[in-house]
Amino acid sequence: MEPLRSSILAAADNDLIRRVVATAPGTRQIVARFVPGETVADALGAVRELAADGRCATLDYLGEYTRDAGLVEQTVDTYLRLLDALSVEGLSGSAEVSVKLSALTVAGDEALAARNLRRICAAAEDCGTTVTVDMEDHTTTDGTLRVVGEARRTWPWVGAVVQSYLTRTESDVAALAHKGSRVRLCKGAYAEPADVVHPDAHAVDLSYVRCANLLLEGGAYAMFATHDPRLVGLLRQRTRWYGRERGSYEYQMLYGVRPDEQRRLAAEGETVRVYVPFGEQWYGYLMRRLAERPANLALFLRALASR
Ligand code: FAD
Repeated sequence: MEPLRSSILAAADNDLIRRVVATAPGTRQIVARFVPGETVADALGAVRELAADGRCATLDYLGEYTRDAGLVEQTVDTYLRLLDALSVEGLSGSAEVSVKLSALTVAGDEALAARNLRRICAAAEDCGTTVTVDMEDHTTTDGTLRVVGEARRTWPWVGAVVQSYLTRTESDVAALAHKGSRVRLCKGAYAEPADVVHPDAHAVDLSYVRCANLLLEGGAYAMFATHDPRLVGLLRQRTRWYGRERGSYEYQMLYGVRPDEQRRLAAEGETVRVYVPFGEQWYGYLMRRLAERPANLALFLRALASR
């Protein structure tokens, strides 16, 4: 992993840095670019804004590695309220939800995560939409795939996520690349030890393309999550090469990142889904966005300095 990226991700875990960043006057301005707000109403506002030019959304209530059972219950409750509101407002055709298992459980209790995921899936089914389970750091990959596999026995539409930076991922994708399987393919956003990841960015990109080929060839509903213009160009060729109809795959990008490209793809008839995080616990999410792109970090430092 590049030194700047890994330093920022390491700093993200430091309590002092967390306090400084969270209270710095310029922080709000940067957060607002990536997180449309803290409430269910803010999330619905973002869905409407995106739907106005043909973009769909996947909504993520921010929070991860929860240590408190009360907070877990509050997270599940927020998802249930969100899904109900999507249905009431007639927005379930434009939005699904993304969940992190570490926000649905405490102390890595997999059975609790699975139970809470089932509650959210049942509500999504009532609402007429779907759920995708985000992938977190590599120590959680096996457990997450297990819980997703179990939920899929009742709800085959539950989306799995794979990360092309992990060397294991091609074999995971081979097992997931079948018809009816919804799979989000991303590069991966966590600070990982060298022995589980590909050695450099080029190798991660090559792995991404190999995984994309497997998904397209196997008939899965591929969800290509990347802002990388080279990859998007290549994916557009590959979808044609594999004879994929539009609507049998989609592109996904993050809220606030390359919005013009999101609109351009949607205007050309591609399905584009924007990942919309909302809620108060934006810190870990923001730090991963800063680590991904030095320009984001520069923007952040300028905003801090201008106050
Ligand atoms: P990068 O290698 O970061 O960037 C490649 C190129 O893309 C850059 O050179 C630049 O040209 C362009 N680009 C990137 N960012 C910007 C920007 N801000 N502005 C303009 N151009 C830019 N990670 C996980 O680990 N687990 C998940 O569950 C997960 N879910 C995701 C869901 C979605 C919808 C998306 C989009 C990402 C998700 N990620 C997840 C994050 C992902 O793993 C990457 O960390 C993140 O997308 C950055 O990788 P990239 O493919 O965009 O390319």
